[in-house]
Amino acid sequence: MLDLRSDTVTKPDDAMREASRDAEVGDDVYGEDPTVNRLEDEAADLVGMEDALYVPSGTMGNQVAVRTHTERGQEVLTERESHVVKWELGGMAQLSTLQVRTLDGGERGVPTPEQVREGHVEEDLHRPGTGLLTLENTHNSKGGVAIAPERIDAAAEAAHDLGIPVHLDGARVCNAAVAHDVPVERMTERVDSVMFCLSKGLGAPVGSILAGSEEFVARARRNRKLFGGGMRQAGIIAGPGRLALDNVERLADDHENARVLAEELAGVEGLSVQDPETNIVLVNTEGTGREADEFLDACAEAGVQGTQFDTHVARFCTHWDVNREDVEQAAEYASEAVERLD
Ligand SMILES: *Cc1c(COP(=O)(O)O)cnc(C)c1O
Repeated sequence: MLDLRSDTVTKPDDAMREASRDAEVGDDVYGEDPTVNRLEDEAADLVGMEDALYVPSGTMGNQVAVRTHTERGQEVLTERESHVVKWELGGMAQLSTLQVRTLDGGERGVPTPEQVREGHVEEDLHRPGTGLLTLENTHNSKGGVAIAPERIDAAAEAAHDLGIPVHLDGARVCNAAVAHDVPVERMTERVDSVMFCLSKGLGAPVGSILAGSEEFVARARRNRKLFGGGMRQAGIIAGPGRLALDNVERLADDHENARVLAEELAGVEGLSVQDPETNIVLVNTEGTGREADEFLDACAEAGVQGTQFDTHVARFCTHWDVNREDVEQAAEYASEAVERLD
């Protein structure tokens, strides 16, 4: 079975398993795990921030960031299809007593400076005040689109002019950087904090990074503890995480494989395919007269798995456990699946 449900499904290779076994460890809640400390330093350098915090998941990284930037009862400005509002169980409301105001970021999922200014709410006797703007790059729900750094800068500057901090959900920010052929730190230049996942295209078994200023990370560390994310001998998982940081350039292979997959799928009668910019391929099944879940069931029977994204949209994700032949094979399976639907 070819598993293209997500880039999170990769299994650690031998080097990562060795890094786990051989990791020098200590109690990270006391700040004494040398492997975690090194990972945090290296990860902060990668995104050009003063400091970083190792967290168990991207969701925790985002939710800790949101909590750290805001005060109870404020509003958070976020894009309406963004992960932080769509796929995190309403965490901003549940964990941080915040209200969300969504902006429609259009096809690329990034609000304009004008939208940020219009969405901003000044605190007064009646209104809660805006406490944070969140952005997402690459934008998952929009099909892994790689937003240009200038557009992130522009939205961030608009927020800063209003005195609002900016958090970037950069679960796949390294994919965005590779797609734009710039260093990762260029993608995060104007934001105040960034979360990125080690456990997606970079291939680590577990973990994400939340980076920002020293002062921000010190407060985030307390909130990580509050949310139950204080870990002990975490070097065991941070060891492979350090190796994951070396895999940024390798993401170009996933992007190339996604392009090949998209081209092949576009040749299948009834499927329409969005041009991939990174490692995510969105396939619309409307032309087959069937919904995405029926198409995906047939795909799984044929030999390839994807996920349903919308009524008529399926997502396939390339990653380091699939190569060029695998994606060509995947497209053949999808073609067989469409035939079976008739
Ligand atoms: C995967 C993802 C997350 C959450 O990461 P988990 O480790 O699965 O909690 C957050 N934001 C985006 C855009 C993602 O794709």
